[in-house]
Amino acid sequence: MDIMQREILFPRDEIQRRVRELAAQISNDYSGHELIVIGVLKGAFIFMADLIRALSIPCRVDFVRIASYGGGQESGGRTVLTKDIETSIRGRDILVVEDIIDSGLTLTYLVDWLKERNPQSLKVCAFLDKRRRRKVSFEADYVGFTIDDGFVIGYGLDFNEQARFLPEVYIIKQQ
Ligand code: 5GP
Ligand code: MG
Repeated sequence: MDIMQREILFPRDEIQRRVRELAAQISNDYSGHELIVIGVLKGAFIFMADLIRALSIPCRVDFVRIASYGGGQESGGRTVLTKDIETSIRGRDILVVEDIIDSGLTLTYLVDWLKERNPQSLKVCAFLDKRRRRKVSFEADYVGFTIDDGFVIGYGLDFNEQARFLPEVYIIKQQ
């Protein structure tokens, strides 16, 4: 895969418009509450930063890091939490923020992990959703954009740690 062989899928203005819409919806749904927003490192950090700054309700932030092994660019079978949250979430309203849902394995694992800590509520907001590629059924509560198959980079999403800084989302062209 050559990351220079790419085309814009979502330009900055379209991303910002959609992020503002999501933030308005979330602020409305949690009106009068304080959210704990948990980002999945590293891919979600840019989306999460934009999203929380567009909220009109207060929030606290925390992060997890998850490694999945054995898959290359595909999601492998084994998912391991390599960095846990540092906040107590018992009895709290939790919003997990992820960059992209593909097979659904990562979020299925993470949601199960977090629910064991007995939050008051737990919802998931994913910037992108490759809905047709699920290996396990998983539905996010908030989705930025649904996309087809193909590998995307930019706006936090990487290819071998490259391209996270790009402000737009690009799709890599198949050779
Ligand atoms: P899942 O467990 O849902 O299959 O995998 C989700 C994870 O796979 C994402 O957090 C992301 O790290 C990675 N991933 C899946 N599709 C893409 C993609 O098109 N581009 C990038 N950069 N990462 C992806
Ligand atoms: Mg990820």
